[in-house]
Amino acid sequence: MKIAIGGIATESCTFSPLPTRLEDFRIMQQGDTQFEALYPFLADHPGVDFHGTITAKAMPGGPVEASAYATLKNSLLAGLRGLLPVDGVYLDMHGAMNVQGMDDAEGDLIGAVRELVGRDRPIAASYDLHGNVSQRIMTKLDIISGYRTAPHIDTIETRARTLSLLLRCLRAQTRPYKAFAQIPIGLPGEKTSTEWQPGKDIYAAIPGEIDGEKVWDATIQVGYVWADEPRMTACAIAIGSDESAIIQAANRLAQRFWDRRAEFQFGVDALSVDDCIRRALAVEAGTVLISDSGDNLTAGGPGDVTALLQRALVLQPPDLVLAGITDAAAVRACLDAGAGSEVSLALGGKLDNRNSQPLPVRGEVEFIKADADNPQVVLRLGGIRVLLSARRTSFQRRQQFLDLGIIPERHAIIAVKIGYLVPELKAMATGGSFLALSPGAVNQDIAALPFQRIQRPCYPFDADMSWTPNAQLV
Ligand SMILES: [Zn+2]
Repeated sequence: MKIAIGGIATESCTFSPLPTRLEDFRIMQQGDTQFEALYPFLADHPGVDFHGTITAKAMPGGPVEASAYATLKNSLLAGLRGLLPVDGVYLDMHGAMNVQGMDDAEGDLIGAVRELVGRDRPIAASYDLHGNVSQRIMTKLDIISGYRTAPHIDTIETRARTLSLLLRCLRAQTRPYKAFAQIPIGLPGEKTSTEWQPGKDIYAAIPGEIDGEKVWDATIQVGYVWADEPRMTACAIAIGSDESAIIQAANRLAQRFWDRRAEFQFGVDALSVDDCIRRALAVEAGTVLISDSGDNLTAGGPGDVTALLQRALVLQPPDLVLAGITDAAAVRACLDAGAGSEVSLALGGKLDNRNSQPLPVRGEVEFIKADADNPQVVLRLGGIRVLLSARRTSFQRRQQFLDLGIIPERHAIIAVKIGYLVPELKAMATGGSFLALSPGAVNQDIAALPFQRIQRPCYPFDADMSWTPNAQLV
């Protein structure tokens, strides 16, 4: 059996002014190299011949430049063409890519793969759970399976499950039926985590819908709300050998999601920037984490909005680490000045000039990490330390702080440009955590975003709407 593997994965905030360019993509896998780290489960399938096309991933950001997408797509298709004939294709996707001038980028890519391999070869895709799925995607794919956790701790498991479903198709020489129910709900990930209710119950119900025969697999997509495109919704999907069983399963999952829509709330206290800092200052022991959620890099925020820093400079907390601000010019100026020097800078506000403007500061260059690819600097402004990076950097791991001479547990307040806390950040938050409702491209006040193209009615924009799930075979 010969399987081709590839994919293009990113999450695109259409409200971000910062486009995602070709150089923002990392080629994770090309040809037959670097398979093991990404897909360690391939070894569980001896006798199957796996070949790579190209797997490209970019950090969440603004819409992908059309030329960048065309380059990656052509490269994936060229790789695939060189492998033909293949028995099946596995695509490692995210599901919320937006390409400038194009709706439904995944639909375009998957459609092109379908065109190339023909109708007889099964195509399977694994998704994040923040993907926006279209009818076209469902039609072109044979198998789709999404994460069941947010924060995402089941990425490898999801990829492995998707591949197993593809191999099952090939071994049994069959295809599953697919049921698809779009759910007219658009909510931020910070309200729909699977760590608290109702996301926890809604996702916990998925395995109970799968019997391995009539229903092979089921998926709920929360969707990605910062995308002003017609396909932006949540959805429920079930695949299997029994048409009515999968329709019922998808409808039950969709109905449960809908019934509990009003319960989706932030998992921690969500407050203004000032209130977050004040509340954190009142905590007597431990380290308090503040999510600077409006500029959350992991949801597509550019990463240089200075609103939180601006307020911190006014409120003057005695010990706050801000991780961080992306500013290549400021980093360059600090490197030129050298560790221990005083520098005057106009910080941030260059990438996201809609939500921020450069903030004049004067401080001390406390630490330099002279990495060639992404130099970083700790800039000290009294009790405030700002972690500056030349490239967009999401601080999610303890080691990233240690690399900059910051021992997280020794600091009273750490502000991170993130939404919900990923496991390592959560472990740091010994004094608790707050979510700052800060400005930015991915700010949590979604009702105030200038949507023009999403399907209406949609909850919570049309709060009083009624709806009944109506899963369709696709
Ligand atoms: Zn996600």
